[in-house]
Amino acid sequence: MARLPFREDLAGLKPYGAPQLDVPVLLNVNENPFAPSAELVADIARRVSEAAKGLNRYPERDAVELRGALSEYLAEESGVRLPWEQIWAANGSNEIMLHILQAFAGPGRVVASFLPSYSMYPEYARDTFSSWVAGKRNPDFSINLDEVNRVFNDYRPAVVLLASPNNPTGTALDSDELIAILDASQGMGPRIGSEATSPIIVVDEAYGEFRREGVASALELLDRYPNLIVSRTMSKAFGAAGLRLGYMAASREIIDQIMVVRLPYHLSAVTQATALAALDHRSALKQQVQLLREERDQLATDLASLGLDTAPSDANFVMFGTFDNRSAVWQGLLDRGVLIREVGPAGWLRVSVGTPEENQRFMTALKEVLGR
Ligand SMILES: *Cc1c(COP(=O)(O)O)cnc(C)c1O
Repeated sequence: MARLPFREDLAGLKPYGAPQLDVPVLLNVNENPFAPSAELVADIARRVSEAAKGLNRYPERDAVELRGALSEYLAEESGVRLPWEQIWAANGSNEIMLHILQAFAGPGRVVASFLPSYSMYPEYARDTFSSWVAGKRNPDFSINLDEVNRVFNDYRPAVVLLASPNNPTGTALDSDELIAILDASQGMGPRIGSEATSPIIVVDEAYGEFRREGVASALELLDRYPNLIVSRTMSKAFGAAGLRLGYMAASREIIDQIMVVRLPYHLSAVTQATALAALDHRSALKQQVQLLREERDQLATDLASLGLDTAPSDANFVMFGTFDNRSAVWQGLLDRGVLIREVGPAGWLRVSVGTPEENQRFMTALKEVLGR
């Protein structure tokens, strides 16, 4: 029999994914360590039963009620009020990114980012048949404006992906840096005929809620830059990684263009009902986020007291190092029931912020492994 016509550029590639191992302390994929409250679980059950009564029908295609609730949440979280028409929701920010690249990138177009950054970005580019260009960050993992300008001039990217706070380093962009990038981006996208375009600048704020005091959200710049998209997710601070709900804020024009490529009925009635229930309980979230930020800062202090380097973090994880053999440190922790992530530049490891008890267990295990 003849072989299958699997795309040649995908031959030999493995599906993406961090190891999912069953160990007592899971600090590897930046989840919120606190399970939903009993009250939230009951509310989800109630909302989902209600949705189940209409499950013979397709879901509300444009998720208007959910987009309204997300807009309300963003207004409370960042002080930026946007109409629901400027919000779009999908199955995780993974799908949000795919929608963005399907609408704005594709064959003959360039998607760019600055490394180290999120390891899924080149995969989104590959899956949408876009070219991938990776610029470099500064040695302290901040964005280098000269490098950004070089990428604009050499490649005229259609989409630029900037995670802030960045994964795996935790580095946030400050608003002056972002304004400089947005100003430099004007007219630097791919030409359409003889017309200049501005590239879509995506600020991926998956960890936005954990940013430190005084760090602004890119949401504040939306009304000034029509080529800006801010992406968010309920997977991290919101404690709902299992839900698969990501969303973005942008101009109405961008949202209307994105809607052309979305699959019909992409967001199930069950997902919409669950997300609405979780959003109703958002006030309980603030305290959790505050506790996790304090634990993050404590973790960074504790790691430094062992003589380790840490990258300053605005997220719910800390990248630390450096080790000649980071795999051995990772394995030593795993042997002691603590799973972290071997990711990032050579020699570094990344640990997610857990509950105070989990962080304690991590530190105890690490001291043993390092003999310090
Ligand atoms: C975890 C993460 C996301 C979230 O992806 P979801 O599909 O919403 O779970 C997005 N961007 C970055 C940089 C992340 O680390």
